[in-house]
Amino acid sequence: MSETPFVVGLTGGIGSGKSAVADLFAARGALMVDTDQIAHQLTAPGGAAMDAIRQAFGNGVVAADGALNRAAMRALAFEDPDARKRLEAILHPMIRAESERLCLAATTSYVMLVVPLLIESGTYRQRVRRLCVVDCPEEVQVARVMQRSGLEERQVRAIMAAQASRAERLAAADDVIDNGGSYEQLAAQVERLHAAYLQLAAKAGAV
Ligand code: ADP
Repeated sequence: MSETPFVVGLTGGIGSGKSAVADLFAARGALMVDTDQIAHQLTAPGGAAMDAIRQAFGNGVVAADGALNRAAMRALAFEDPDARKRLEAILHPMIRAESERLCLAATTSYVMLVVPLLIESGTYRQRVRRLCVVDCPEEVQVARVMQRSGLEERQVRAIMAAQASRAERLAAADDVIDNGGSYEQLAAQVERLHAAYLQLAAKAGAV
């Protein structure tokens, strides 16, 4: 095995099916490193980002259990756009460092780095050897998110408008998983790609 693990980036718009796809790869033995999950851990009770967040924004954004009070933070960011930037300045380097640490510690054949906003957030593209995009028609995306979250259509569309476009994601992709169909069709595509990633990782390791 190579010194540096073979890292595949996994991304896709909201509701495209990233979690479903990640579960299917994980079931086949790939290690998942999920930046959203890391962000949650950093801001959980006792999380490594909480001291810096308390210092930057005060006790008002910290819940009684020591976790980030997300509603309070959202309200603050709504009033003051700079607050969001300051929060990101605290969290993003920590997320990068922790995801890097987890990728390097991998003992699996390859690692999947799940980054919902990979296209939008610059440097992640350079950190992955290959980019896998989960894709589905926008109408399907809207319907699935509405069903999952209870949000209204215009709210879902506003979130989508703030993300990279479908065309931008597809243009950046090495591999595209079409999740406009059934779970069975999804699993078949993951099966094929898993085999391909095992081969690519083995080749990379043999160099
Ligand atoms: P993401 O992580 O990209 O936001 P999810 O994997 O959570 O997307 O999928 C969004 C929603 O759509 C979830 O409720 C999920 O159960 C559902 N879903 C995902 N893929 C399919 C599919 N092929 N058929 C039906 N429902 C799906």
